[in-house]
Amino acid sequence: MPRTLDPELRRALAARIRYYNEMGIYDFYRRPLSVRANIPESISADQPEIAISTSQPELGDEMSPRKATAAAVPVEENIFEASALKPEQSVSDPVKALKIIREDLGDCTRCVLHKQGRKQIVFGVGNPRAELMFVGEGPGADEDAQGEPFVGRAGQLLNNMIKAMGISREQVYIANIVKCRPPGNRTPEREECETCSPFLMRQIAVVKPKVVVALGAVAAKTLLAMSASMMQLRGRFYEFRPTGVRGNDPNWDGCKLAVTYHPAFLLRDPRQKGEAWKDLQMVMKELGMRAPKANT
Ligand code: SF4
Repeated sequence: MPRTLDPELRRALAARIRYYNEMGIYDFYRRPLSVRANIPESISADQPEIAISTSQPELGDEMSPRKATAAAVPVEENIFEASALKPEQSVSDPVKALKIIREDLGDCTRCVLHKQGRKQIVFGVGNPRAELMFVGEGPGADEDAQGEPFVGRAGQLLNNMIKAMGISREQVYIANIVKCRPPGNRTPEREECETCSPFLMRQIAVVKPKVVVALGAVAAKTLLAMSASMMQLRGRFYEFRPTGVRGNDPNWDGCKLAVTYHPAFLLRDPRQKGEAWKDLQMVMKELGMRAPKANT
């Protein structure tokens, strides 16, 4: 039998859930009763929803689980039922769904990057039904100025990489882990990645790609919630399901994720272009794309 909550506690829990929703967190998981009995009023972290299809022992050094995008709570269900569904899950049109996520993000001040010189939020761009999605680290100066990811020199190289695959930029979806430019193009802090990435997870769940390509270590480590070198991360597929997003599509329960070098790194070290091309060829094979005759 469900327990009846004290009205004051119930109001406090509802307020807490609204707070999490405003942070972009919608999924709440209840632990089994035996476990919940030990955490009567606490909120604790759950495990990230990532399954890694590798038996490589060197990849066992996972980062500690990300800060909760799912929380365990000991309570009546009806408080949480309404808040578990994300607003975009009520629409089937991905264009509308992405618009809802963008509106939910608003003029975001959830992490410190909002007050460190950003001109605008860089949400994401491309085909809302793309089979292939690229995820980078964060906007640079050009992206910040134009409000679109990968439009500077690194963006030009990414365009060339996409073209070399035999497709166009318009056919893929492109986004970043953080949506605001880190000052001086510094690497985004882990906390910034953790705060911003739930919105990216929701974007991925809406686009429902067949393959996500993580560009660079920050994107790979954030999406996979694991710490490893690029050498260890590249060259294989991972089974990926967006963390904190409850699937409501029986035809999409996640996708493959591949890791390659960030185009900005390739500009600094062009010798690695061949390695990146190998990664993209692996992706093309997975997607059944025909290899073009010429490389970039
Ligand atoms: S980086 Fe993301 S979480 Fe941080 S302020 Fe910008 S949109 Fe918000």
